[in-house]
Amino acid sequence: MSATEKRKVDVEGKVFNKDWSSKYFVVEPNKGVICVICQATIAVLKEYNIKRHYTSIHSASYDTLLAQYRLDKLEQMTAAIKKQQGMFTSYKKESELVTKLGFKVCELLAEKEKPLSDGEFLSDNIDETLKERIQRCTSYSLAIDKSTDVNDTAKLVVFIRGITDNFEIIEEFLDMASMSSRTTGQDICDQVMKLMDKFELDPSRLAGLTTDGAPSMIKKINGFTKKFLDAIGPPELVVNHCIIHQDNLCTKILGFTDVMKSVVKFVN
Ligand SMILES: [Zn+2]
Repeated sequence: MSATEKRKVDVEGKVFNKDWSSKYFVVEPNKGVICVICQATIAVLKEYNIKRHYTSIHSASYDTLLAQYRLDKLEQMTAAIKKQQGMFTSYKKESELVTKLGFKVCELLAEKEKPLSDGEFLSDNIDETLKERIQRCTSYSLAIDKSTDVNDTAKLVVFIRGITDNFEIIEEFLDMASMSSRTTGQDICDQVMKLMDKFELDPSRLAGLTTDGAPSMIKKINGFTKKFLDAIGPPELVVNHCIIHQDNLCTKILGFTDVMKSVVKFVN
């Protein structure tokens, strides 16, 4: 093979031919060719290698798919891969953010000449940053749930979700408060009020409140929501029964445990 011919083959070999998609069930999302059936990456961008992968592993099952049915299957599998890759991108962005925050914390510690083990300093700083972010929210909602730790102590867990003037959505774990031995509606209300004070949350901006369906939360006379609404709740406050708790109850009754398992695994 002459030098010119060799170069021609190399150049041709580096271009993805769109016909390969329907012939061999492959796509080229960014760099590299991916088999949409088994999601393997085919390292060499040449028809010979792509064809070899398809014929040796998939042709027995996939040669029977013809014409429009074949194209529909390809489209369906490509969409699934793209969705998966989108998820990976968002995870990557999240982990980059965590790394950046880590560096920021180190910078703050160095500025204040504090050791990395200074938990109180770090905790104060995180609270302050969170407070600042929440102050920018024109409207926010709270999700409240009770749980117990390894020592069987009741904990109150509060999440906040708000929106700023620029439509920036803030969604954060607000705090976890230890409850005394009692967890009545009034006790929960007292704890939530304390947290609202701590983070200087403006009650008039509170738009939604979500809890589970436990009696201490929603009982008409002594439940947390009643006590809370009486204490500070703006009249237009929307009170919700958490949808995941409802889902959980439904799956228990209907026997769809497998579905719930997958949903929880996906969410976590
Ligand atoms: Zn494959």
